[in-house]
Amino acid sequence: MENKKEMRTWLDDLNLDHPLVIAGPCSAETEEQVLKIAHELKDTDVNYFRAGIWKPRTRPGNFEGVGSLGLKWLQTVQKETGMKVCTEVANATHVKLALEHDVDLLWIGARSTVSPFIMQEIADALEGTEKPVLIKNPVNPDLSLWLGGIERIYSSGVKNIGAIHRGFSTYQKTKYRNIPEWQLAIEFQNRFPDIPLINDPSHITGRRDMIFDVSQEALDLNFDGLMIETHHDPDNAWSDAAQQVTPSTLVQIMRDLKIKKETDAEAEYVSALNNLRAQIDVVDNQIIELLGKRMQAADGIGALKKSRNVAVLQSKRWNEILGNMVLEGEQHGLSEEFVLRMFKAIHQESINHQEKIING
Ligand code: PEP
Ligand code: MN
Repeated sequence: MENKKEMRTWLDDLNLDHPLVIAGPCSAETEEQVLKIAHELKDTDVNYFRAGIWKPRTRPGNFEGVGSLGLKWLQTVQKETGMKVCTEVANATHVKLALEHDVDLLWIGARSTVSPFIMQEIADALEGTEKPVLIKNPVNPDLSLWLGGIERIYSSGVKNIGAIHRGFSTYQKTKYRNIPEWQLAIEFQNRFPDIPLINDPSHITGRRDMIFDVSQEALDLNFDGLMIETHHDPDNAWSDAAQQVTPSTLVQIMRDLKIKKETDAEAEYVSALNNLRAQIDVVDNQIIELLGKRMQAADGIGALKKSRNVAVLQSKRWNEILGNMVLEGEQHGLSEEFVLRMFKAIHQESINHQEKIING
């Protein structure tokens, strides 16, 4: 897919002096709830009011949304507050109903982006619409699948496009509900700098106390906006209770976030520097995580060697590793001296781990 400048137009036309903010409840529950939250968000920097009315749930039996009834409530929000509204669409009928009810922006959820059939159905139903359409990343960390979904929507004549980074599901236990895999979002931006990229810290963290940090990280990485689930009574929300914030917390978050202004050369320099530093922070965290995994494997080897009464130090294997890593390092622009020093330190830590297992 070529890079298309026109994809940015809808965002540029809003003429914002801050990142785009989409906020509102995970789900529309009742008309009163929707209106209460909308009125509390009305005089803030929020640009679009969100509310899910068709809810994709992992297991049946959970609240699956109020359905098309909610479209009327969103129209009341438009009328009473003047806010623009948006909701998730997951099939052709949803698209038709949402467009008929003048929803201002539509987004496609992570569970839809994984399915080319669904994406094609939605794309066909959206044909030629002027409304902005945001495509969430698929639940699995697959950049091509995400781009493929965006291409389908673009190919059916939708020019006002954006992407939402909502993290990726993993079987590992992590502090996130959906791991951010920031390098994927960075790769997305590098390849398509003209597609606005919005971060969804709510679904990445699954926890309201982590939303600020993830939002700041996203802004440091030059994201164009944030989608943050907001509810007047988060603990009693009918879906995603743990990750929603109150409107006043949202306002506080927006106030505390450091937003970079890209206006002059100095600002551009600072912004480029912050971007690179954020990339380094991401990689450093990955290095530590990977080293932790390597030591876990070393612990496993220690346990195996213990059961067979085998010596910890096996110099043949170790020399092989060193040789391979020096060659590999060369291909990545790393000096032999550095690779040797680094692996000596790693090897020492591995031996310490194994010895602890064998002797402990
Ligand atoms: C949502 O935005 O409420 C939602 C269901 O998100 P996702 O598709 O990212 O899971
Ligand atoms: Mn949600």
